[in-house]
Amino acid sequence: MSADSQEPVAAVEPQKIEQQTIERQQMAVDIACVGFGPAMGGFLTTLSRSLLNPDGSVRLESATSPGLPLQVICYERADGLGFGVSGAVTRARGIRGSFPGVDLTEIPMAAAVKKEKLVYLLDPLHASRRSSLRPLAFKAADRVLRSLGFIFGLKHEAFELPYTPPFMRKHDGLVLSLGQFNQWVSDQVAASGVVQIWPGMPVAEPLIERNTIEKNAIEGDTVTGVRLADQGTDLQGHPDLGFTPGMDLRAALTVVGDGPVGAVGRKIDAQIGMPRGHESREWALGMKMVVELREDSGLEPGTVLHTIGFPEPEIFGFLYVHPERLASVGIFVPSWFRSPVRTAYRYLQHFMLHPYLWRYLEGGTLKSWGAKSLQESGRHGEPYLVGNGYARIGEGSGSTNVLAGSGVDEAWTTGVQLAEAVIELAEQKRAFTRENLEATYVRRRRESWVDEESKIAADSRNGFQNGVVTGMIGMAVAGLTGGWVTPAARASSRKLTSLEEAYGSRISPAELKQMQEECAAKGTSLHDRIMDRCGWPQISMDGKLLISHQDALLMGGSVQAPPGYANHVSFRRPELCRACETKLCVEMCSGQAITRGEDAVPAFDREKCVYCGACLWNCEANGDGTQGNIEFNAGAGGLHSALN
Ligand SMILES: Cc1cc2nc3c(=O)[nH]c(=O)nc-3n(C[C@H](O)[C@H](O)[C@H](O)COP(=O)(O)OP(=O)(O)OC[C@H]3O[C@@H](n4cnc5c(N)ncnc54)[C@H](O)[C@@H]3O)c2cc1C
Ligand code: SF4
Ligand code: SF4
Repeated sequence: MSADSQEPVAAVEPQKIEQQTIERQQMAVDIACVGFGPAMGGFLTTLSRSLLNPDGSVRLESATSPGLPLQVICYERADGLGFGVSGAVTRARGIRGSFPGVDLTEIPMAAAVKKEKLVYLLDPLHASRRSSLRPLAFKAADRVLRSLGFIFGLKHEAFELPYTPPFMRKHDGLVLSLGQFNQWVSDQVAASGVVQIWPGMPVAEPLIERNTIEKNAIEGDTVTGVRLADQGTDLQGHPDLGFTPGMDLRAALTVVGDGPVGAVGRKIDAQIGMPRGHESREWALGMKMVVELREDSGLEPGTVLHTIGFPEPEIFGFLYVHPERLASVGIFVPSWFRSPVRTAYRYLQHFMLHPYLWRYLEGGTLKSWGAKSLQESGRHGEPYLVGNGYARIGEGSGSTNVLAGSGVDEAWTTGVQLAEAVIELAEQKRAFTRENLEATYVRRRRESWVDEESKIAADSRNGFQNGVVTGMIGMAVAGLTGGWVTPAARASSRKLTSLEEAYGSRISPAELKQMQEECAAKGTSLHDRIMDRCGWPQISMDGKLLISHQDALLMGGSVQAPPGYANHVSFRRPELCRACETKLCVEMCSGQAITRGEDAVPAFDREKCVYCGACLWNCEANGDGTQGNIEFNAGAGGLHSALN
């Protein structure tokens, strides 16, 4: 790799006047990679095996360092490569293909799937939304099910469905800890000695050269590399003691695998645009715990439980059993749960306390905790997969399949497909232009199971626009007909329901108003107050598994916020925050890092931020949900627990 510090800055955004005066170190490589998740794991695993011939001579030669193999460098923002937060159960079709002959259950915390069940959980507390007037169909269905429970096999306030629909099944798959899996993959890649992976290095932005006078952005613009985040700044990003401007890394190809809320992918979308009609609006927040089960829990490794129905009809849940008495248990709070006070931590605790699950979890000990958002728009959220000098892989490229409930293997496989394309182009000495990447990477992706299944999933969730019951029926029909029959087209704009719409049938408008004012005055959360009022009991903490949200931050992993970086969360227009009624960014902050600040503008404490991205998705301040009022940049740190 060649490095020098003399060159002037080339690609800066015009509005960043201050930035133009900063001299940055420059480095040139062949391939710059952003983010290390399963997608990048698939990319680097495949590519690293092809850079050298079996005799050690160079197979794919570098343009920047002649005589050496392609120079590849990957930057991950989190402090460790085992940062991933995920379930995870996966069919691992793509992953297995990358490791023929390897027993993947040897990876720490991995187990072959042995038993899989889909379970419908009733509401034993009569506190969830189904207990109010809406959704009526749920309430009616629950009554019928309860009264006919002796026929359907009602036990522990739940029904085990007689079969798991084929589109959801993971019977031939693996239960994994994503943290352990990422760690294992990065060890393999590092052992190849031909690729560098640097954790703790947030990439601030892509370097984009504009050439759009005669062409549109996707044809004319070229991504020429990336800029790392500045270090030694104050919280606002101004130079401070030990200021080190982030380096500019020039590369013929930039591989963007920065996941659901990555700043690099979002900045490319902002500058180059999205394909017509595409948008990333469907998301979910996944929150999980890793629990050490008591010795006689009766759960064997490889057990997979998918749940629906509780704590709210919209919230899906899971319990996956790893070896050595460890289990991952968690929930997904989706964007179509339109409550203006939606939250996750308290719901997760109520979920674990459901009688069907608690009989297994009681007596367990919390080992780790985590939260991360998922981009669930799938095909509808697919950005331009390639452009001049760049390619997108993984969840940020729309690979996650919401119908199958699967993202890891899809992300991995898109990484493998890009690596194969890069090998083909490098062997033929063809440039990483949009056309060439289309003809190699995009073609592979379009011909693969990832794309075929994403088409089936594309409209499967449309029914949730009209409610939970239509949503679930729509998903089942779409899955069982292979995507031939799907609910009607997606609405272009959906708004959060107002407090009154969501809770007016149970709490009078005057009381809601009073609660809101009291919570605002005390700086406490409104969701807690409303949940109490709707009949959710207080959680009685046991200090082991049922612990406070703040204790989970301390005991469930370590939250790291290295000094010298700017705050990665800020609030664009304070006046919008002042006028914001429910302050959902505060209510649903996974780390309680956003609190009600002075003057009704939220305050951000990055020492508590777990980098889940929920605040970015949650804020719909401009009313149409496309932009929001949160500026979410690349940041270092976040929650670290290799068990997640
Ligand atoms: C609670 C939960 C449960 C899940 N359960 C399952 C499951 O059971 N099965 C399944 O298949 N999938 C599951 N998923 C989804 C799955 O985890 C994702 O689809 C998958 O991790 C996507 O992989 P990726 O490599 O595209 O992105 P990610 O795993 O998100 O990796 C992207 C990486 O990029 C890094 N990054 C972001 N921005 C920058 C930057 N600016 N600079 C440097 N690095 C950056 C991030 O820190 C991250 O490590 C679950 C997700 C969650 C949250
Ligand atoms: S960031 Fe958005 S959600 Fe949070 S207070 Fe401001 S406007 Fe409301
Ligand atoms: S501030 Fe941090 S922890 Fe809170 S929602 Fe945003 S990313 Fe998640």
